[in-house]
Amino acid sequence: MKVKKGDLVLITAGKDKGRTGKILKSLPKELKILVEGINFKKKHVRPKREGEKGQVVEIPAALNVSNVKLICSKCGKATRVGYTVDKDIKKRICKKCKQEV
Ligand SMILES: [Zn+2]
Repeated sequence: MKVKKGDLVLITAGKDKGRTGKILKSLPKELKILVEGINFKKKHVRPKREGEKGQVVEIPAALNVSNVKLICSKCGKATRVGYTVDKDIKKRICKKCKQEV
């Protein structure tokens, strides 16, 4: 996973294309992420008791990680992520400004 929880990402595909949001949760096994305010799906909830009204709730749906681009915290641009290894520690770097992100 090139992005992780707390990263700011740009959505590059789907109905929220062009929007940005923070990653709330990453699901590495499924290569999916949940992004704040992005990809909400409406779900109808049936009344639990008689006399209650049904509700429509919005639930965030996970996005495929390939549909987002990291926004670099250093230069603020949507970028691809590279890696460098420094003293056996793997670091993410921004492909645009070459700084660690
Ligand atoms: Zn950068």
